[in-house]
Order: sequence, then structure tokens, then C-alpha cells
Amino acid sequence: MIVSVASGKGGTGKTTVAVSLAIAAAPITLIDADVEEPNANILLHAEKSTIRKASLPFPEIDMKKCDFCEKCSDFCAYNAIVVLKGLKVFAVPEICKSCGGCKLVCPQNAISEKPRDIGYISFGEKGDVSFEEGLLNIGESSATPLIRMLFDFVDGESKNIVIDCPPGAAHPTVESIKRADVVLLVTEPTPFGLHDLKEALVITRTLNKRTALVINRADIGTDEILKFADSNKLPVLMEIPYDEEIARNYSKGISPAEFSPRWREKFLNLWTKIEGMIG
Ligand code: SF4
Ligand code: SF4
Repeated sequence: MIVSVASGKGGTGKTTVAVSLAIAAAPITLIDADVEEPNANILLHAEKSTIRKASLPFPEIDMKKCDFCEKCSDFCAYNAIVVLKGLKVFAVPEICKSCGGCKLVCPQNAISEKPRDIGYISFGEKGDVSFEEGLLNIGESSATPLIRMLFDFVDGESKNIVIDCPPGAAHPTVESIKRADVVLLVTEPTPFGLHDLKEALVITRTLNKRTALVINRADIGTDEILKFADSNKLPVLMEIPYDEEIARNYSKGISPAEFSPRWREKFLNLWTKIEGMIG
């Protein structure tokens, strides 16, 4: 079973839920797909054993063969390849999507591809949790290719996977939830929480994903989230009250499932409820 833990915005406790769920339901694979700001391992403390560079093919132009026909720049839907007639042809790394199209259309066979590093993928273990994390290089415009690569390395033996998704409702989130059997949306009972939950729900419903809620700091706001969940047939699988012990341990980088058998039990119970959703 693949469970994507997502939220419409940052700061809802998404990573705390993802890490605690993984610890409670181990053996499991935990993937930190929040590649612009991965922080699941601050709570998990996996020992990283391998770090690989992640790269994409990038066009390289042999100016000895190029006749400045402009077929490459005409083809590129992203305007990522520039032809300066009589001078130079080059691709812009920040815009290029590595689709390979310019190479295919070049009549002079002047375009080859070389790898361009976009970030790193790290692997590690903590107890029965196998951990994988992507880290996007600063300045890279798109997180989606690196998130896609994370799934290339998932061990074929991994039956259960928890994905800590990037916050928001854009392409990287879509990439992180599209393989999920169940999407767990972590929210909080505030007007901002409700607003962002609505946006996240549009994505999960568009992708036709089974979706459930975890409400964090459930006792500090209004009951608007519960009313919204009820009217949208969204099961609320867990409510986490504001808890000083959770906050204190979080500030030390310790997840609830790590410091408390009681919370580990609750997250195992959450896993069982998620399993129940797929029958
Ligand atoms: S398509 Fe090939 S030959 Fe034409 S401008 Fe581009 S690189 Fe040069
Ligand atoms: S690889 Fe694709 S996106 Fe990149 S420059 Fe060529 S056509 Fe444009």
C-alpha cells in the first residue's frame, strides 16, 4: 500500500504524521518527496548509507555541424534553446525540460545530450524504516523530475510506502500523490487550514484518489473542518490535540511515535484505518 501524506500548506504537521506513521507501521519505506526542503530525516534520524547524484539529459550543440536552421528553437515549446544566427546555439538549463525533442528534429545531427545535475538522492535506514530523500539543487526551477526519479529507486520488495509530499497544490504535489492508494491530508482547524484543504482536495478528487483527513491541533480552532469533511464525505481518521509533550519533543527532533508507545499505538491504529479504506 502506498500512502501519500500531503497538505495544502506547510506547517500543518504533515511531516510529523508521515514519520510517525512510518515508524508505527514498519517494516516500511519512507520517501521524503519534499525535495526543495526535505526535513523528514530531522525526525527519523536514519543513517544515510548512499548518496547519488540525480541528473537529467541536457542538449549540447556541436557548432561544427550546426547550420543555424533554427529547427530546434522552432520546435522547443519552452523557448529553452536559443539560436544566435551565425554565432552560437545554446540551451538554457533553468528552462529546459529535457524532453529530447530538439535532438530529434536537428537535421544536422548537431545536438547530443550530456547529464546535467539537478540534485541528490540519499538512502538510509532507521530500524525497519528504509528511507529515501531527494534534495533539489538551489536555483532548479522544477522539482517534479527529481520527485519522479525517487520512485525509480524504490526497492521492488517494498510493499508499504509512506510518502512525505511537498506542501501546496502544484505539480510536485501531483507527482507525489499520483501513485498513492490513499492520500492522507493533514490539516488544522483554522480558516487558512480550511482554505488550503479545499485546494488540496480538488487535486485528490481530480486524480480520483481515496482521501482521508488527519486534523492536527484539533482542539484549538473551529469545527468548520469537521463540517467540511462531513459534507464532502471525507473520513477523519485521526484528530491530534495540541499537546505540549509533542511540541517539546518536536523541538528536539523527536516524533510522537518515537517518544511515546501510546502515540505509536495511535499511529498504528491510523495505519489500520487506512488499510481499511482499500478493503
Ligand atoms: S536544429 Fe541543429 S542545425 Fe538547426 S540550428 Fe538547431 S542545432 Fe543548429
Ligand atoms: S530538450 Fe526539450 S525542452 Fe530542452 S531545449 Fe530541447 S526541446 Fe527544449
